[in-house]
Amino acid sequence: MARYIGPVCRLCRREGMKLFLKGERCHTEKCAIEKRNFPPGQHGQARKPKIVGYGLQLREKQKARRYYGLLEVQFRNLFEKAARAKGVTGDNMLNLLERRLDSAIYRIGFGTSRAQSRQIVRHGHIQVNGRKVNIPSFVVKPGDVVEVREKSKNNPTILSARDATAHAPSPNWLEVDRENLRARVLGQPKREDLVQIQLNEQLIVELYSK
Ligand code: SF4
Repeated sequence: MARYIGPVCRLCRREGMKLFLKGERCHTEKCAIEKRNFPPGQHGQARKPKIVGYGLQLREKQKARRYYGLLEVQFRNLFEKAARAKGVTGDNMLNLLERRLDSAIYRIGFGTSRAQSRQIVRHGHIQVNGRKVNIPSFVVKPGDVVEVREKSKNNPTILSARDATAHAPSPNWLEVDRENLRARVLGQPKREDLVQIQLNEQLIVELYSK
């Protein structure tokens, strides 16, 4: 699957907020949002037009899509899956986004960013319920045990990510055993566990329901 390979700080500047796409750097004063919090491009510092209606919905969708590191087609497919499921579509969508394996690995703390977590999954370092899973879009469910495979337990990238994220609290839906590089999915992510950023999922539902 294709992926975005351009400058990621530019994405945060476009949305006007930290999207935490670069791991540890996002928590330092080197963060581009700390230094240049205006949209990228030649006219980035020009007076901002007021965004309403469709523009607002589009920005909200782009923000969520970039935060979770998905391409448009992936995001759209996930939305349609959420819309088909029982319950509130916006909640279902955030729930599915959080339960993607790459996102879960980030939340557990085996990667410092979603991009790094995705690479860890892709490179075959992770197993779920004892079976290797190298598909970042795999959705974990309550009761699943997600762990680093035996042969990867000394992987320096994973170990340094674990140490770097030791201060970050784990969400309530995950029970993390950092020592053994293992986590158990305890339940469904709740709304308050879902995002580090302000997100109005209703605007995304409205955009895709046109
Ligand atoms: Fe770059 Fe991270 Fe700051 Fe975003 S939050 S601008 S990705 S350093």
